[in-house]
Amino acid sequence: MFFTDTHSHIYLPEFDSDRDDVMQRAFKNNINKIFLPNIDSKSVPAMLRLAGEYPQHCFPMIGLHPTSVKENYTRELENVELWLKKEKFYGIGEVGIDLYWDTSFRKEQIKAFSHQIQLSLKHKLPLIIHTRNSFPEIFSTLMPFSGKKLKGIFHSFTGSIEQAEKAIQMGFKIGINGIVSFKNSGLDKTVAALGTDHLVLETDSPYLAPVPYRGKRNESAYLLHIAEKIAEISGEKLETVANKTNRNALEVYGI
Ligand SMILES: [Zn+2]
Repeated sequence: MFFTDTHSHIYLPEFDSDRDDVMQRAFKNNINKIFLPNIDSKSVPAMLRLAGEYPQHCFPMIGLHPTSVKENYTRELENVELWLKKEKFYGIGEVGIDLYWDTSFRKEQIKAFSHQIQLSLKHKLPLIIHTRNSFPEIFSTLMPFSGKKLKGIFHSFTGSIEQAEKAIQMGFKIGINGIVSFKNSGLDKTVAALGTDHLVLETDSPYLAPVPYRGKRNESAYLLHIAEKIAEISGEKLETVANKTNRNALEVYGI
């Protein structure tokens, strides 16, 4: 039995002092594939370095994160395109719209997201979508492209059952992380109603550590706690959760 962490930022400075130990703990817990979503032009070198050190286990993606969309976003998007010409990436991510912290670049975020949807279609790469306080904007930006072989993941999903079903209908999988283990998140009820057929697992390390590590630095090894929680909610065996979520990750990433 093994697991796929479909979303982990273990190339960030939070892991500079013990990154190899973090990787070994992931392997010990049977997490053997880790997909690395990018943030912006500054994070690319560290991400590619890690992917180069663990070519069988770490798979880099390229994209501009919505909270990094500022005045210079067109230059950042050009940078994404330059990298796409130079290196192999496994997805366009993470991208999307975040109106939780700051709405001052709302228009630019929508434009950057739309542009990166087109990059994902052009390069036939899955789209890894970050949605925060922005489901209406995300769906209306995706809409003109629906029916055009969109695929990818609604990462760190916290929406309603209806929003999950809409995402699935558009060709996406639903990324579930440690939030599912948080008391009062309500995500357990959504997962119970939705079932596991369209789910993928993710940690979003170093953020959102699952119970019993809530509030601490997250790492890929903790994916096991998320899988166990989903098994408990769905009433399925852990192995079934592993198999289904691996199959879904394979469908998204092709490896
Ligand atoms: Zn992320």
